[in-house]
Amino acid sequence: MKKIREQLRSIYEKHTPSIKLPMVVIAIVFCMIPLMIQGRVLSSSSRQAQIDRRIIDVQNQCQILSNRMSRNGYLTNSVVDNGSIDSELSTLADLFNGRILIVNSGFRIVKDTFSLSEGKICISEEIIRCFQGENTNRYDTRRHYFILAIPIPEYVQAADGMTAGKTAGVMLVTASTESMFELEESLNERASLFQLMAFVVLAILIFTVVNVLMRPFESLVASVGHVTEGNLDEDIEEDTYRETKEISGIINKTLEKLKALEQSRQEFVSNVSHELKTPITSIRVLADSLMGMEDAPKELYQEFMQDISDEIDRESKIIDDLLNLVKMDKASPESNFAPVQINGLVEMILKRLRPIARKRNIELIFESMREVTADVDEVKFSLAVNNLVENAVKYNKEDGWVRVTLDADHKFFYLKVADSGIGIPKELTERVFERFYRVDKARSRETGGTGLGLAITKSVVLLHHGAIRVESQEGEGTTFTVRIPLIYIP
Ligand code: ADP
Repeated sequence: MKKIREQLRSIYEKHTPSIKLPMVVIAIVFCMIPLMIQGRVLSSSSRQAQIDRRIIDVQNQCQILSNRMSRNGYLTNSVVDNGSIDSELSTLADLFNGRILIVNSGFRIVKDTFSLSEGKICISEEIIRCFQGENTNRYDTRRHYFILAIPIPEYVQAADGMTAGKTAGVMLVTASTESMFELEESLNERASLFQLMAFVVLAILIFTVVNVLMRPFESLVASVGHVTEGNLDEDIEEDTYRETKEISGIINKTLEKLKALEQSRQEFVSNVSHELKTPITSIRVLADSLMGMEDAPKELYQEFMQDISDEIDRESKIIDDLLNLVKMDKASPESNFAPVQINGLVEMILKRLRPIARKRNIELIFESMREVTADVDEVKFSLAVNNLVENAVKYNKEDGWVRVTLDADHKFFYLKVADSGIGIPKELTERVFERFYRVDKARSRETGGTGLGLAITKSVVLLHHGAIRVESQEGEGTTFTVRIPLIYIP
């Protein structure tokens, strides 16, 4: 069973049907079934009405004959003219395509229109019930004939003339109804042919209608196909139905995102090339000028070599930062989340950065509101905090300060890095998280910045399902606030 189901599924997957197929099938079923049911119901009710009419007809005629037989004393043999009644019985039987038996009170057949059973005894349920005074009839649906039992009363002399007395005999009529339906059968055959034709016409009609209805979806598929071939600038417009309009809208939005992504990728590649090229160009200029000077003093050589070494450091820092950024962009399997004591971690980072701060007489203050332990990737998180504090020192004034505050509630911990530095112009505060974006290129370069530090920090924060915010006042200082969940849920 399971194997069959799997085979069916694989066939289905290989030949995925079009939605047109169920639409056509449903439409045909809904149109044809009522048509067929209606035909069946009509034909069977008209058949029943015909049979009922025929039974009543036969019953009436036989009743009249039975009365005549009583009056003529057919069963009592007291009247001479039995021949005319016999011939009437035969005519009637022929007319109904049936057989009439006359049974007397001794259950003996006195007349058989087929002349086969005269003199024989005939006892049947219908005859017995008829002798008891009931007019009986029964229709055999399987063999298509009906049986009628009509009493033949005995006429007795009463004060006001002749009157019907007890049942002296029974007229048993059996008649086939088969011939009645010969015409109907042929009509039915024609009706079936008509139904078949109606089915074919209906199927063609429904198929055409479904094709027309589905056209907007097909044109939508064609447009999407065109776009996937590489024409990203093409807009998809298919507003025939609300559904196609909605799908077009969603595809257009996705395309917009794709375009933005593609643009940012191109920008990133060109930025990377440019950033990597700058130190190499400097190295080449320095080396070329050294080679151009034949009797350059040793000090000049040393100075130039120092510059070349600085440029190599810079190149290697850019490469390190780029690698870090790529690592952050990757999905989490490489991440190593574990509970970490954040207070200790921040203190260690500050300790490492203190010598740089001291050089410019910048005070590094750590305010810890409470002990915080949270699930973080220690290496990546340290890198993010380091970038924030290092920036706060780098973009500070002489004798300034940097205040790092750690706090937490029941869900998150908050790390605030505030400085008394140069600040960031209001309109640029959000751009500082972009890769390679620097407010003041010269200053960043002077301080050994690559423009990737905050991009890395933001990626780390997002990796921890956190958020980062920046507030700044130009000339007064900047505050970065990081919010990270205490418990990491992958
Ligand atoms: P960089 O390597 O240039 O420091 P970042 O990505 O770390 O690159 O920062 C991007 C830019 O944001 C910096 O060039 C600087 O102009 C600005 N910036 C970052 N932190 C601060 C801060 N604390 N005060 C003022 N400007 C800042």
